Amino acid sequence: MLSQKISYTEIAEAKRMFETCRNVVIVSHISADGDAIGSSLGLYEYLKKKGKQVTVIMPNYFPDFLKWMTDADRIIQYDRHRAMAKTFITAADLIVVLDLNEPSRLEELAVPIMKSNAKKLMIDHHLHPQKFCDLTISYPDASSTSELVFRLIDAIGGVSSLTKAGAEDLYAGMCTDTGKFSYNANDPDIYFILAELLKKGIDKDRINRQIYNNFTEARFRLLGYILSEKLQVFPDMHATLFTLTRDELSRFSYIKGDTEGVVNLPLEIKGTKLSIYMREDTERPRIFVSIRSVDDFPANKMAAEFFNGGGHLNAAGGQLHNMPMSEAVEIAKKALEAYAKLLTA
Ligand code: 5GP
Ligand code: MN
Repeated sequence: MLSQKISYTEIAEAKRMFETCRNVVIVSHISADGDAIGSSLGLYEYLKKKGKQVTVIMPNYFPDFLKWMTDADRIIQYDRHRAMAKTFITAADLIVVLDLNEPSRLEELAVPIMKSNAKKLMIDHHLHPQKFCDLTISYPDASSTSELVFRLIDAIGGVSSLTKAGAEDLYAGMCTDTGKFSYNANDPDIYFILAELLKKGIDKDRINRQIYNNFTEARFRLLGYILSEKLQVFPDMHATLFTLTRDELSRFSYIKGDTEGVVNLPLEIKGTKLSIYMREDTERPRIFVSIRSVDDFPANKMAAEFFNGGGHLNAAGGQLHNMPMSEAVEIAKKALEAYAKLLTA
């Protein structure tokens, strides 16, 4: 048995929403990751089996290594198919917002979503959720939104309606948000949920290969370039930093998603507490910042103070606007200085 996490009132309210809705739209965050797509398609499978009309809409592109999921090809990309997406949003009587805590994470998709009169349900595990939904199910200590979707389905007695494809989706979300169950993964319930998902007949070894052993040669060589040429190590600070400019990205035929997860690698260096990765956007004059940390180092606080961002304790990010990479590097060094006491401890 799973221990109680989602409150009884939230369960009852969500159950009522699922029972009374007919047309559902599920959305998740910009540059969707495994948990965004996994939780969305997992819930889609469940609601579809319940006879609902369900459409999944993402703000923009999502990586190829997630496209093996059943019906991933039916996901509507808002930046490419606005009119069609808006038709579904207009027809929706329930909108489920997954794996994000504020409308800005939907970027332009936020406009039709916020305009809609449909009931809105948020299920998420990011800190400080904004209250823009009729029901907000937010548990920042959960490993993933996919875990919360499973818990909700379980709590309303729906695990028997979860398809094998749905189990694959939720497994993928939990697996990617915990780095293959290597962080945020101490809750014994996670392994109970895994057992339930495996009972649906999923092949988790194959899923792991589809997600992780799926590099293009260019991406693999970019990884080598980062590690051998670009990684700066600050041994006294137990910190690392690497950057990629537009030019470097194009040299390695970069496509979005190619450096997904790479920021975690420097944490494999003995003693490293903090890894920062800065990448120039290929479209707008901005630099994306990714931060990963271990133990109680507050990556989200650093992201908020120095990089206009936020996130989780150990995985956070932000953006710097209108500046060359050299200036961004100076800001990163200032951030390290500001946190020197915690880092050198
Ligand atoms: P990633 O490094 O994978 O892009 O992001 C890690 C986490 O940092 C995300 O799950 C999200 O919680 C947070 N994050 C990334 N970028 C931003 C941002 O620009 N603003 C905020 N508030 N959080 C971000
Ligand atoms: Mn997540």
